[in-house]
Amino acid sequence: MTFANIIGHEQQKKLLRQAWNNQRMAHAYLFTGAEGIGKRLMAIAVVRLIFCEKQTGCGTCSGCRRIDHNNHPDLHIVETDGTAIKIDAIRQLQKELAHPPLEAPRRVCIIDDADRLNPAAGNALLKTLEEPRAEVMLILISAHPDMVLETIRSRCQQLPFARLEQSMIAKVLSQQQIDDTQCQVLAALSEGSLKKALGSDRDFYIEQRKEVFKSLSALSVGSIVPMLELAEKWAADKEQLDDLTSVLLSCYRDIFLIVSQGSSSLLTNIDMQERIRQHAAKETPLSIQHKLEAILDCRYHLQRNVNRQLAMERLLIQLTQGPCGDQASRSQL
Ligand SMILES: [Zn+2]
Repeated sequence: MTFANIIGHEQQKKLLRQAWNNQRMAHAYLFTGAEGIGKRLMAIAVVRLIFCEKQTGCGTCSGCRRIDHNNHPDLHIVETDGTAIKIDAIRQLQKELAHPPLEAPRRVCIIDDADRLNPAAGNALLKTLEEPRAEVMLILISAHPDMVLETIRSRCQQLPFARLEQSMIAKVLSQQQIDDTQCQVLAALSEGSLKKALGSDRDFYIEQRKEVFKSLSALSVGSIVPMLELAEKWAADKEQLDDLTSVLLSCYRDIFLIVSQGSSSLLTNIDMQERIRQHAAKETPLSIQHKLEAILDCRYHLQRNVNRQLAMERLLIQLTQGPCGDQASRSQL
């Protein structure tokens, strides 16, 4: 992975390259920005620049190739074990970083999902950050920097990454033999994340998106049992909840556009226009605004591991309310 292979983020590339050329690399960076936009790829590209025998990140020298196969002795990658980064992983890292680099000019450690460092691990890592050594460099990566310890954040140079433009994602998708409509829908739904546009999320967006909105539209105010059943069904698959909320956001954004008479060229779900227009007839700009806020609020809490079933029930109650804040469903619970 070289800078040239990374889509977008031109400013970040320029800044990092300049820092390297002027020998002003920070001893610790914190790359921040949404999931799947290229932060980790950028970290690998930086490592290549530092380790490459030709100092270009050529991709062909032994240094570059071993980075790509993740078996370079001076590259350390720390990741979550699924739930957290624990203190043992940081202690192990510190043992390795205590030795001088074997081949490269520095040892570099990439800590992915740095917001998953548990408090003990975070505090242990602080020691490494507080006593920086010239031959050690850390690159922390996080999509939720507000959840990284403040003391860690303040000791890193933060480099924010923006979401990719929709046109960039559409361009990549168009090279993948996907028909034009799907290409447009996926580019809009991926929220600037190439990982979402190309990864497993894609199947959800293509296969299940219509079903999600259809099930929701079928609910009426006060239909408690079907609502609880749908909440249970949605809550069952933890992995898909982020995609589910993305789909809901896209549908309600479209409804908002229709209700506020915005341009239909800005619609995301262009293949579901009829259903979305029917739904829009029952809403007002204010009711949609409340529903968009409810979805964002639900997503925020899901990312912080709240009870999924309750979060879904609460969301569905809010989404099935009428435009005048009809409380029928709430009062029957
Ligand atoms: Zn190379």
